[in-house]
Amino acid sequence: MTDERHPPATTAGADPARRLLRAASAMAVGYADTVDGRRVAPDPAAVAALAAFDEPLPETGLDPLATLRLLDEVGGPATVASTGARYFGFVTGGSHPVAQGAAALTAAWDQNAALPVMSPVAARVYDVVAGWLVDLLGLPAGTRPVFVSGATVANAACLAAARDAVLAGLGWDVQSDGLFGAPPIEVVVGERAHSTLSKSLGLVGLGRDRVTVVPADDQGRLRAERLPRSTGPVLVCAQAGEVNTGAFDPFDAIADWLAERSGWLHVDGAFGLWALADPGRAGLTAGLDRADSWATDGHKWLNVGYDCGIAFTRHTADLHRTFTAAAGYLPAATGPDRFEAMHHTPQSSQRARQFEVWAVLRTLGRAGVAELVARTCTVAVAIADGLRAGGLTVLNDVVLNQVLVRLHDGPTTEALIAAVQDDGRIWCGPTRWAGETAMRISVSSWRTGLDDAAAAVDAVLDRASRLHPAGRAPGVPGT
Ligand SMILES: *Cc1c(COP(=O)(O)O)cnc(C)c1O
Repeated sequence: MTDERHPPATTAGADPARRLLRAASAMAVGYADTVDGRRVAPDPAAVAALAAFDEPLPETGLDPLATLRLLDEVGGPATVASTGARYFGFVTGGSHPVAQGAAALTAAWDQNAALPVMSPVAARVYDVVAGWLVDLLGLPAGTRPVFVSGATVANAACLAAARDAVLAGLGWDVQSDGLFGAPPIEVVVGERAHSTLSKSLGLVGLGRDRVTVVPADDQGRLRAERLPRSTGPVLVCAQAGEVNTGAFDPFDAIADWLAERSGWLHVDGAFGLWALADPGRAGLTAGLDRADSWATDGHKWLNVGYDCGIAFTRHTADLHRTFTAAAGYLPAATGPDRFEAMHHTPQSSQRARQFEVWAVLRTLGRAGVAELVARTCTVAVAIADGLRAGGLTVLNDVVLNQVLVRLHDGPTTEALIAAVQDDGRIWCGPTRWAGETAMRISVSSWRTGLDDAAAAVDAVLDRASRLHPAGRAPGVPGT
């Protein structure tokens, strides 16, 4: 069959290539059709069947269509159904269909977003989405986002720029001379900073343990009255969204404290930064715009695919100082109208993550992102209420999309989590809170609604009742 607008390609390889793309998109549709009807965690038999991948490297190439089929038929059933509505594990979003569509289309484009000259379309869409993100989140004028692989790297990118800026203020050029012999700077973190923040600090040479740790309160918020008395320049790492409770640090108090010193305020907002898009959460986010840099993820709450982190800073020149590279074949000097991603990010060549972010923001609009945040937070409250009524203890103030619960004690809670995972109707995992295991439920998918809250409560209480057949069955709430 000949398509008039797309005459047959003259190269022999073109048509089989298109057949592969069509087959892959049919497989993707087939996956989307079935994923809702199955367990959230894959069936153990499907996981066992992954042994089919254990083949030696073929000496000669195998059929590419058969290769896609193997991936689809053996790999698909062994996936975790995080695109469904009932995955509450970690802080993992789903991925919006328009993000999946944009990813599939732009994978066929194979654009390198390092430089505008390599991809005018990636550069233009970046410019648009950069403005949209700063507008949506209400960050200060002049703030610029850059795309990296996730919040770990977004934190590291911001901290590297902060390190170089603070040390430049002390007359030290880190890019030229490294950190050996540099004047010391104090790094301040909250006691409940995310585990990966240590990794980011280590990566940029500031040290995982060479930090001043400020105690946190019972929700995991940094206690501003316990900030150190330091006088010298400080690099403060605050947090929007504690990974268990969803709590936000007191940004105004931290910014006031820093205003009496010199330094840099960075905020890890891997998921919590999106609360800025919901006007109903202004109390939580007060003072958040006073930071120098912010890290977030697209692949969590915004529901784009992996891997998409976003580093924002109001000091773009500092990012440039840290990440610029020169080579004879690279275009000379950047102008204000020509933003070059490779000179502002840890990557050189890079995937154009902006396409998916742009597609989701265009599809949802300002109101849609606000609704996504507000709805998932409402679902979290409904789950907390349902579980509390069923006899579990809710351990956190549910201010965002995170719910932390315990059934009796740590060991009972562990047994409950295992039973819920085995049950397959929903999936959520454990964490440690106040020295004991707790069940952590994160509501981060664009698909999750109040029906799913009810289903999650049913699944957990049903499993809880079977753990305690002797009269501990969750009863009807008293009032
Ligand atoms: C998830 C998370 C990170 C790490 O993000 P990645 O995208 O996995 O690199 C950092 N900080 C917080 C608070 C997180 O929730």
